[in-house]
Amino acid sequence: MILMGPPGSGKGTQAAVLAWFQDLRHVSTGDMLRAAVASGSALGKRVEGIMAAGELVPDDVMMEIVKERLEELGEGWVLDGFPRTAEQVAGLVELLDGLGQEVGLVVDLQVPDEEIVRRLAGRVTCGDCGHTTSRDALDPDGGCPDCGGRTLHVRVDDAEETVRRRLDVYRATTGPVAEALGRRYPLRRVEGVGAPDAVAQRIASALEAADQA
Ligand SMILES: [Zn+2]
Repeated sequence: MILMGPPGSGKGTQAAVLAWFQDLRHVSTGDMLRAAVASGSALGKRVEGIMAAGELVPDDVMMEIVKERLEELGEGWVLDGFPRTAEQVAGLVELLDGLGQEVGLVVDLQVPDEEIVRRLAGRVTCGDCGHTTSRDALDPDGGCPDCGGRTLHVRVDDAEETVRRRLDVYRATTGPVAEALGRRYPLRRVEGVGAPDAVAQRIASALEAADQA
């Protein structure tokens, strides 16, 4: 299974929940990169250098890492954060064909931009204890719910303008990715708004429907 969705769509949470309930291995881009570095392989050393320089990991390197990981895992995984480009889709299809594996379902989580901005730009970090929470969860006096601290910072990365810019980049690059995946594998758009449990239930229903199709 492949889980797609914009930053702040709850995709990582949903992938973890799915992995647990459907007995799938959760494979996230971050995990794959960390595993490659930890393996100490030639590829891992290359990735370490790229990341240390703050650069984006190029498609061919990402492809190598995914190949290594999927070959090692066999069947039964949920991919989160990959593929992100048309080149990566083509590479993944070729890889899976070579391994004789199919993708049972591609889920594209739908969350309106306004909701994502509200979720991400509403996050604050306590300057006293480091706890990160949403503005809605502050105590009645507007203090940190953990320690009562009142020095609360909006994460720079989450400031509204930054969130909107990240969303623009996501829409521009990932829209075509969903289309390309949908031409080859069953694709369902699932509403990502609401309680995490409710979203998980919608994904499970989509998976069931795809299994029966
Ligand atoms: Zn605190």
